[in-house]
Amino acid sequence: MSYKKVFIGVGHGGSDPGAAGNGLTEKTVNLVVAKALRDELERHDVAVRMSRETDEDDTIQQEVAECNAYAPDLAVEVHTNAGGGSGFEVYIYPGGQIARTLAEHIETEVKAIGQSSRGIKTSTTFMWVRSTIAPAVLCEGFFVDGPDHTKFNTLEKQYALGRAYAKGVLKTLGIEFKELKEEEQNEMKRYRTVEELPEGLRSEIQALVDCGALKGVGAGGLDITEDMARCMIVAKRYTDIALAEQA
Ligand SMILES: [Zn+2]
Repeated sequence: MSYKKVFIGVGHGGSDPGAAGNGLTEKTVNLVVAKALRDELERHDVAVRMSRETDEDDTIQQEVAECNAYAPDLAVEVHTNAGGGSGFEVYIYPGGQIARTLAEHIETEVKAIGQSSRGIKTSTTFMWVRSTIAPAVLCEGFFVDGPDHTKFNTLEKQYALGRAYAKGVLKTLGIEFKELKEEEQNEMKRYRTVEELPEGLRSEIQALVDCGALKGVGAGGLDITEDMARCMIVAKRYTDIALAEQA
């Protein structure tokens, strides 16, 4: 079996926050949505590379170069809109048939979670759709400064958007979407913030964050499973014991 490959461009990052409104910052929303997209694709045995996995500078030129070097089957760029308006929209380069099919499949899934669509649009100027070799789409999920921001103003709602993108990608790749059983959902669930973790794990994970041992924190940045958190806590306790014995 040969694995399908998908490249995810995560719009903005680091010194470039992108759009902002209603307490939402685009670079952060993009990362949360992109990670949910990645997780669903990996769960279906799709190989994924992301242009960034933390809050760091990530120019569009770098993204395109990385994407072309990776040579994926499909490429998705994740953005969030601003400037007055509401609804999802997706851009493709004119004439790209596979990209259009991908855009249609993603749009269908985004509508299925209750988001309106402004449609599939073409652009000859967006570097992402112009310069990527693989069939590529650029998604603008919602407007941070529009009335539809309330549909996506929590991490859970942003994950749902990422999962909708994933369903559209999987359909385009000819991979059947499999729902997770509840116990599998808990096992695979990735926690993006300390506050999201089960209560009994929070204080020790917070201590690892506070001392700098665990980085990448911030909305969407923690990105660990419950099992990973438990392993980290055991390692922390072992270190604490070892240090106490030395003292
Ligand atoms: Zn953007």
